[in-house]
This record gives sequence, C-alpha cells and structure tokens, in this order.
Amino acid sequence: MNEVILIKEGEIALKGLNRSDFENRLIKNIKQKLKLLGNFRYENAQSTITVEPLEECDMDVVEKKISAVFGIASYSRAAKAPKNFDKIKAVAKNYLQDHLKICKTFKVEARRSDKSFPLKSPQICAEMGQFLLDEFSNLRVDVNEPDAVVKIEIRDQAAYIYSKKFSGAGGLPQGCGGDGMLLISGGIDSPVAGWMMAKRGLKLQAIHFASPPYTSERALKKTEKLVSKLCRWCDCIPFHCVDFAGFQEEIHKKCPKDLMTIIVRRMMMKISQSIIKDQNSRGYCNIQAIVTGESLGQVASQTLGATLCTNSVCSLPVFRPLIGMDKSEIVSLARKIGTFETSILPYEDCCTVFTPKHPRTKPRLSDVENAEKNLEVEKLIKEAVKKTKFYLIRE
Ligand code: ATP
Ligand code: MG
Repeated sequence: MNEVILIKEGEIALKGLNRSDFENRLIKNIKQKLKLLGNFRYENAQSTITVEPLEECDMDVVEKKISAVFGIASYSRAAKAPKNFDKIKAVAKNYLQDHLKICKTFKVEARRSDKSFPLKSPQICAEMGQFLLDEFSNLRVDVNEPDAVVKIEIRDQAAYIYSKKFSGAGGLPQGCGGDGMLLISGGIDSPVAGWMMAKRGLKLQAIHFASPPYTSERALKKTEKLVSKLCRWCDCIPFHCVDFAGFQEEIHKKCPKDLMTIIVRRMMMKISQSIIKDQNSRGYCNIQAIVTGESLGQVASQTLGATLCTNSVCSLPVFRPLIGMDKSEIVSLARKIGTFETSILPYEDCCTVFTPKHPRTKPRLSDVENAEKNLEVEKLIKEAVKKTKFYLIRE
C-alpha cells in the first residue's frame, strides 16, 4: 500500500490572480525540505498538494518536515488506492484498523472530485459505513461527535483514504513576503520575532552583534544554535556576526552614560542597514525590512521615546511582531517553536556590556544626536562592517 501526504493550503487559497505564484513557492519550499529524504511525486489539484514517495522512505520524518513548512493549513497521511470500490474498502480496513479498533463511534465523509466515479458521495458514505460496521464489531455510527471520521477522496489520479488531520504551521510560504533581516540576540524574544515574520512569508537573514572579549565564544555559539533551531521552520539562514566591541568602547568613552543604551541601538540599526545595502548590491536578495524582538515597555530601550529615537535612523520598515505581547505570551511561543530551552542558557549579550545603571527611558532625539557628534560614526560603521563574518547556518 502506498502512503502519501495530502496537504491543504491555508490563506493561499484566498489569493486571486497571484495564487499560482504562492502555490509554486509552497511546492518549491516543500521540495527543498524533503530533498534529502528521497524521491517524491508532487501533484497540485483542488487546493490539495499530494506528496507521494516514489521509493521507500521514513514517512514519520517526512511528516515532521512538512509540519514545519509555512503556508500549510493542515495535512493528513493517507493511503492511496486504485479507483475501484472493493479495493478502496480493503485499503480502508487495512490502513485504518489500528485506529478504528480503539474507537467506539465513527462516520464516513466522502468527496468525489472525479465525477465519473460510479458511486456518488452519499452512496460511498453509506456503503463504506456498512462495510466498516461489519468488519469492526466495536464500532457504531455517530454523525455528530464521532471518535473517528473516515475520509474518502476520489480524485483524478486515485482514491485516498485517511482519518486524522493535523494542523499545519499556517502562515504564508517563506519567500512570498520578500527578504528580511532579523536582529538576533541570544535571548528569548528575537528568535520568536523571526519565527513570526518568517510565518508571514519573509525569507530571513540574521545579524548578531558580538563584543569579544566582553562577550564569549560560548555566547556566539548559543546564538548560532538559536538560528539553527529557526532553520527547522525556514530554510538555511545566512548569518552575519558583527564585531561590535571597538564601537561600543568608543560610545562608552565619548557619550553620556545614560544615553548609551539608545545610541547602541541606533548604531546597531545603522550597521545593519549598511550590511543590508551590501547584501542587496550582490543581487541574490532584496532585503526590505528589519525584524527585532522588541516589546513595548519591556526595558529602557523599548519605550515609545526610545523607539522613536531608534526609528529615526532607519530608512527601512522595522517589524516588531512582539510589540504588543506580554513576556509570558512570548515564552509560550518560544516553547512551542523549540527555541526556549536554548534561549534560557546563560550568556552575555553585547547590550549588557557597559550598561548604565540608569538608562534614560525618555531620551530626547536632539540630545542623542548631539551626543553622537562625539563619534566618528561613518568610520566606526565601516570598521564594524569590515570585521563582520558571514556564513550559512543550517538546521
Ligand atoms: P531578546 O530576548 O531578543 O534578547 P531583549 O528582551 O533582551 O530581547 P533587548 O536587549 O533590548 O531586549 O533587545 C531588543 C532587540 O534588539 C532584540 O530582540 C534583538 O532584535 C535586538 N538585539 C539585542 N541584542 C542584540 C544582539 N547582540 N545582536 C543582534 N540583535 C540584538
Ligand atoms: Mg537581549
């Protein structure tokens, strides 16, 4: 018996003229995820993508990969049968027996997109229902709240039989929303922010600011691990590691202590935009947004006044998907996406290097701009960009 995966599209199904672009991207992303697992046939018809292995492969692993592809509303593992009703019944009995044996009630749902199939949907339901009642003495029919729903889909190529339906990762296929640069620390928030924007279709690159020797190699490894955890949901992620120590020393020496936090953030944005410009000029990406894990009021650099000062050096839109979320909500998402356990390992972040005791929570933009006149900003940015290391991180 052949087992396949039936994938139901989410929001994509609502797209108008662009729908096929979204579908093609989704299929491309699924292929990318499965490419090391074997050979598969892909079919796309009636809002369902069918993934059929053409050789022996571990369907549990295939299922796990598919569960983390954005753009999928739900999916099912299904048995494929020839379009002959006796064969369909035999496959249904065989494929679903483990599940049906432990259920008390069931119902059958049928969909017949191939209208040439001799039985109509209500007949399929009635005859399959009777067959399963005869085969499984533990079962009775309950059309309102059954323990099991036996689904039969008669499609152009074949018939498919399944019972369980799982929620997919949702969102839109990665890449449909363009390219974005995630500012990632080793904390809890930024990986969640990256996941949320990848879910809306952004293809991510990531920047991390490290300050050796004030921050350790271990802290960098931890951030790399977080990025690799995000790769379960995305593709591989291009990673930029900025050596920020020299720049921070200059800020520490030449700027008022209570403005350091906000100046550091503004310089992070400037350096990020310089790296983005360089990446875009190479022609393989077009990064048009910055993503951060800020949440309003969480710390001094995330007040409204501080955000205004940060944004004034940003020419690109800054996406802050966590802006209205409580820490507890962010933590439960971090647990769900599998980054939390890594995020809570101890580490030093460059933001905590030289942190003032009392950072200003309502910095005035003119004060900040005046303070920055003490720095040779352009030269420092150039130096930091030059020292940036670039590599790919995979799952
Ligand atoms: P996180 O949990 O993501 O570290 P946080 O609560 O510690 O966030 P901040 O330290 O103020 O908050 O950082 C706010 C945002 O700035 C982070 O979510 C991240 O997007 C970015 N950021 C902070 N530190 C770094 C860093 N070392 N490298 C890259 N981005 C950073
Ligand atoms: Mg942090």
